[in-house]
Amino acid sequence: MNNLLIISEQAAQYEKLITAQTLPDLNIHLAQDTEQAKDVINDVNIILGQPALIAPLLKYASKLQWVQSTFAGVEALCQPKLRTDYCLTGVKAVLGPLMSEYVFTYILALERHIFTTQKHQHNQLWHSLPYRSLTGLTIGICGLGSIGQAIAKTAAHFQMKVLGLSRTAKPMQYIDKVYSPDNICELAQQVDYLITVLPHTKHTQHMINEKVLQALGSNGVLMNVGRGAIIDEQALIESLRNKQIRGAVLDVFQTEPLPNDSPFWTLDNVLITPHNAAVSFPEDIYKIFCDNYLRFTQQQPLEYLINFDDGY
Ligand code: NAP
Repeated sequence: MNNLLIISEQAAQYEKLITAQTLPDLNIHLAQDTEQAKDVINDVNIILGQPALIAPLLKYASKLQWVQSTFAGVEALCQPKLRTDYCLTGVKAVLGPLMSEYVFTYILALERHIFTTQKHQHNQLWHSLPYRSLTGLTIGICGLGSIGQAIAKTAAHFQMKVLGLSRTAKPMQYIDKVYSPDNICELAQQVDYLITVLPHTKHTQHMINEKVLQALGSNGVLMNVGRGAIIDEQALIESLRNKQIRGAVLDVFQTEPLPNDSPFWTLDNVLITPHNAAVSFPEDIYKIFCDNYLRFTQQQPLEYLINFDDGY
């Protein structure tokens, strides 16, 4: 018999979805936070949940074999000194379309001057602003995992020139040229929109620094939907203040929620969203769990395994 702990703010929803699948040999325990989980943690061999809630429990989980994350970002479980003697699986393939919707909501809103046009409407001003087509604009996507590739596909649909950046710099469908991290400035200086959808690892920390922002230049917009720590926030604040870049769309921050005294709140060339660009809907994630559970019970390799050393 397998003992599963579901630890998530949406634990009850996950339980309902998983129970309906009548998976073999499975007992389910629920917890919404780490304290609640301590009563059962010693008995469980599988955990499904949010990485930051799971990390403090690892040391108590003496029978642990497998953790299925409900989030794409798993950095909380890849910290040095945390145990790695179990299988960690992530979330792939389901968040790409959501993230593409976010990225193109903001690109189209900026190119079509939605915010200014709404102000004009409030003032009963009939005033046509000049705009550009996305065709021919260049997008640079840093991080070409399942999400970055989905963004690239949508960009190709709009006939944008698509540049990408990944660790291995392997050529990919929909991407005109893939750069390696050493050449990030070369990529940045060519793009109208620089999208960062990288995991937070020791190698991506502050990858977007003063030099990259200088290369992006005054026509470029930075959009960060990966993790806050990928950006040197002080350098970004300076370049936004000095209009060295056109603007930024930021969903993720070094400290979340974004503190009240953060300069980002008051900069007029920044758009802020509260880390909700692509949320994990239980209706999508439970299917990954169920599929992997059947693999687990049949001793087959699990899908979407995370490499603890790489951190993604
Ligand atoms: P993924 O499939 O694991 O792909 C990660 C990509 O990043 C790969 O292309 C990888 O390169 C590249 N990469 C890793 N380290 C790199 C480095 N040092 N230099 C250059 N490229 C590097 O990840 P994903 O599922 O697409 O998700 C990406 C991240 O998005 C997550 O880790 C999470 O932090 C964030 N996210 C945010 C939200 C939100 O709501 N804001 C939602 C979901 C996810 P290779 O291809 O060469 O391995």
